Amino acid sequence: MKTCCRCQGLFPATEFYRRSCTSDGLSYHCKVCERRDRKASYQRTPDGAKACALRWARANPERRRIITKRWSAANPLVAIASNATRRARRSAAGRLDKRTAYLVLASANGRCAYCGATERLTLDHIDALARGGTNHWSNLVAACARCNQRKGVKPVEDWLLEREGLEGLARALLALKVTKKVMQRLNPALMGQPITEV
Ligand SMILES: [Zn+2]
Ligand SMILES: [Zn+2]
Repeated sequence: MKTCCRCQGLFPATEFYRRSCTSDGLSYHCKVCERRDRKASYQRTPDGAKACALRWARANPERRRIITKRWSAANPLVAIASNATRRARRSAAGRLDKRTAYLVLASANGRCAYCGATERLTLDHIDALARGGTNHWSNLVAACARCNQRKGVKPVEDWLLEREGLEGLARALLALKVTKKVMQRLNPALMGQPITEV
């Protein structure tokens, strides 16, 4: 694990780009911070560069798709975070900060909060946006696509009760609460806001 000099988030080494000039061979800044800087400098460049890139992308959709796919495979957490923030924007329920999404995913240690699966992770709103859930980090967990889909907009207790029974429900809610505490411990800088009940 390593701390990002920019956002103070604690991330696994895979969340830093490689750099030959540093002592540990990794960038000082996490991937999300670095990408934001790069995007800002891109937007400062004369319009010519941007127009040229857009023209290329439009003329080579297939090539672009392959590059995007390869990039997503190499940077899974950033890709999931980008996807989640894009969706949240579409649902117009307040802003979901990309770094928050990224930190929640990085803190999850690659596991679904509900079943522990490591495949096809997504970002789940514990209280669904459709039910007035917020984009605050305490309402977010990493969940596999399967759990995310099955839970849908059901209240989390109903869904867990259905799946786990009464005894299982208590265990699952406790596990969820512990997950939140661990996340807060890992990334106090970003998640310094008081924890709300989950
Ligand atoms: Zn950072
Ligand atoms: Zn799951």
